[in-house]
Amino acid sequence: MKSLWNDAEAAQFSGPLGLRVYTSRLLGRDRSLVLHGGGNTSVKLREKNLFGEEEEILYVKGSGWDLETIEAPGFAPVKLDYVRRLASLPSLSDPQMVNELATHTLRAGAPAPSVETILHAILPHRYVDHTHADAVLSVSNAPAGDQRIRDIYGGKVVVIPYIMAGFDLAAYCAREFPQQATKSTVGMVLLSHGVFSFAADARESYELMIELVSMAERYLEAKKAWSIGLPSASAPAFKREVAAKLRHEVSRVAGFPLLCRCNDSARFLGFARHPDVARISQSGPATPDHVIRTKPLPMLGRDVAGFSAAYRGYFEKNAQQAKAPKTILDAAPRMALDTELGFAAFGRTAKDTAIVEELYEHTIEVILRAEALGGWRALEDRHTFDIEYWDLEQAKLKKAGSPPVFAGEVAVVTGAASGIGKACVEAFLRRGTAVVGVDRNPAIADLFRRQDYLGIACDLTDAKAIQAAMDAAVKRFGGVDMLVLNAGIFPSSQAIKDIAAEMWKNAMAVNVEANLLVMQACHGLLKLAPRGGRVVVIGSKNVPAPGIGAAAYSASKAALNQLARVAALEWAKDSIRINTIHPNAVYDTALWTDEVLASRAKAYNLTVEQYKKNNLLKTEVVSKDVAEMAAEMCGPLFAKTTAAQVPVDGGTEKLV
Ligand SMILES: [Zn+2]
Repeated sequence: MKSLWNDAEAAQFSGPLGLRVYTSRLLGRDRSLVLHGGGNTSVKLREKNLFGEEEEILYVKGSGWDLETIEAPGFAPVKLDYVRRLASLPSLSDPQMVNELATHTLRAGAPAPSVETILHAILPHRYVDHTHADAVLSVSNAPAGDQRIRDIYGGKVVVIPYIMAGFDLAAYCAREFPQQATKSTVGMVLLSHGVFSFAADARESYELMIELVSMAERYLEAKKAWSIGLPSASAPAFKREVAAKLRHEVSRVAGFPLLCRCNDSARFLGFARHPDVARISQSGPATPDHVIRTKPLPMLGRDVAGFSAAYRGYFEKNAQQAKAPKTILDAAPRMALDTELGFAAFGRTAKDTAIVEELYEHTIEVILRAEALGGWRALEDRHTFDIEYWDLEQAKLKKAGSPPVFAGEVAVVTGAASGIGKACVEAFLRRGTAVVGVDRNPAIADLFRRQDYLGIACDLTDAKAIQAAMDAAVKRFGGVDMLVLNAGIFPSSQAIKDIAAEMWKNAMAVNVEANLLVMQACHGLLKLAPRGGRVVVIGSKNVPAPGIGAAAYSASKAALNQLARVAALEWAKDSIRINTIHPNAVYDTALWTDEVLASRAKAYNLTVEQYKKNNLLKTEVVSKDVAEMAAEMCGPLFAKTTAAQVPVDGGTEKLV
């Protein structure tokens, strides 16, 4: 491991707190040191209050901030003397600790100080860095880990047995640290948890962390326990309905829809097929705080019922020993190891599934290295339970409120690169949906850069391409719950006697057959939607009110309309509902350039403004209006409606 310190970068941060921000970010950049909120840092400063009196302030990482992206406001300033004194109390409950930290924070609106604040306070050094380094965890979770840590570091570190983070750990360290520390002490190892470094200077403290972790890495290398190969495993063809079925089962046990992210990389597959996987994967997490996101253990294979029974057993056994009554969380897994799928991560948001995957990617390395040292041994599950069912975590859950309406659900939108399709993507994203945008325009891939969006360039008249697109969608998010059939073309106006065969065929191919192909590819997935499948067809006013010169368009849209009505009949038994929107005069799309608009308005002897509002309500209909209707049609408002045809057109005289 190398120091990432860079003088030019460091010069952009001023003052001791600025450098605290900089070196915290350096720690955050290395995933083998800290992952997703693991680890924290602090600096102790002397500052004058409004009366000109000097005070010692501890700036400590606030909860909700990640080290990689932390800024100065991410550090909570607390009164150092007071917080340090707390460690001398005989006991302090978690709610009391949270209260004391909150009421001794010196800036209104500061984030809640880390649960490890008191521990930072009792260490005498100005800068304190704390990580959950993979290499240190591998060594400390191997046989005689305690002794190995002492062999590696000698007197450089104080060694503390595993105690859950919070007051008890801080109070123990407050007693133990002065006893064990010597002049050569530059760090502290918390067994099965992580490592601290400290110094008077930001760079020195950071580089000591790098050095301490490097020592563990060198030890692993010397013991041939650093790069552990796995037998090469080639992935079998991805079967999207296998993944969707698994997600369906997991969501059923959870009681709400979860996304599922599959990864069949050689590393994950190799681990899932490891001859000892049943032992090494079922011992516990690399460090207990992963449990909040991952639950204690991955499910082996796809036996969801077996997993949930075992999870209930774990809860009941440990809840009996707990001081306060506990409420069981859902008993669905958040991870699965499967010899076909590789690794599957489950979560309510795409971000959650990506985090679970990354945590386990590191866990695999930690486990394999400890195995190479003679045997991976995780903490007993009561420690994991203490974190998973910590009062502070249970309180957070109670406060969390209800998630967005489509949390954990997946929508596919065709023709999503612009106009109504793009507006649909946005409407679904706003409702917490993971969205797959499909379009023949390659710009679809980068339309949005966020984890809950996947853009796939695809020609929807190509059945094979559609199959590949659905595979990719399910691999990323686990299924398809909602489908918006929006892609379509509007061929140029031609009188019937002039219609060219090619043009007619093309209109039918894109406006009818392509939708049939997508529906066929999605039917099995929609059937497995945890809340029932939903399809929205973007039709057209031309269906009930065809126009002169638009035979190919009107006929193809009418055919699509009949297709949707038959689907409503055939698919009702699969709990799939399908509804149609008939928009009219939506001009904020790629079809309608300023010139086309001006010439059409002129043809009717209207201004552009009048032309746009040429409907009963004299209102302009925009893509967003149609998209909002599409999203609502998938939601609870339309839960009991199928085969409906709803106009979004401001009212059309001919149709009233
Ligand atoms: Zn920690």
